[in-house]
Amino acid sequence: MRRALVAGNWKMHGSRAENADLVESLLDQLAPGAEGEVLLCPPSVYLWETGIQLKGSDVALGAQTVCAEPKGAFTGEVSAAMLKDVGCSYVIVGHSERRQLFGESDEFVARKFVAAQSQGLIPVLCVGESLEQRESEQTMSVVSRQLEAVLSVTGVAALEMAVVAYEPVWAIGTGQTASPEQAQEVHAMIRGRVAALDGTIGDSVRILYGGSVKASNAKDLFAMPDIDGGLVGGASLNADEFAQICAAAG
Ligand code: PEP
Repeated sequence: MRRALVAGNWKMHGSRAENADLVESLLDQLAPGAEGEVLLCPPSVYLWETGIQLKGSDVALGAQTVCAEPKGAFTGEVSAAMLKDVGCSYVIVGHSERRQLFGESDEFVARKFVAAQSQGLIPVLCVGESLEQRESEQTMSVVSRQLEAVLSVTGVAALEMAVVAYEPVWAIGTGQTASPEQAQEVHAMIRGRVAALDGTIGDSVRILYGGSVKASNAKDLFAMPDIDGGLVGGASLNADEFAQICAAAG
């Protein structure tokens, strides 16, 4: 039985005051002891303070990216050990904004995945195709390539302590969600590829959907057999909306 996970990716939004209000309101609304797991990923400068506010709750803390190197002269970077030190248990790797805007290649994402796990962080590995790739029927090959770039380095066993997030790039921040059937088709393919390497891990790995998840579409998406929750951007900045999405996963 896979435990649902709903992760909020705040991206580069918020302030100390706004974050405090958001978390307070969210904690007020989350059902205590709910079946699903909730994860918040604030910008790195706010991790420590948000972590303090989350203490005593069931909500986990995660970062939005991590340096591929363990330590040293990498100005501006934050290492996996540092993220662990400030209370993170998860970190997003390979978000499409990092791939597109910061030039992160499949190989680089794999190195970040390894760096995260080396410190006991659970990577949330994002994969997904662009609109152009979908329209030219490359969705499955692109997503497989992104997944295999990691698996070829780590081996399938690494997915025991990892989460995969399918995020079609055309659905991120656009308001245009993949239909539950479109998402399910890709999730089933991902699970199938993992299961071909290890049936038990294929069965247990959590695969989140991300791309304009809202309270109004979450239930239908999460009802699909291979969708185990969501990675939520814009809607995670609104406590009422995000709480409803979390409830839909529970
Ligand atoms: C994301 O940033 O991972 C995301 C899915 O964003 P949004 O929910 O705003 O589409």
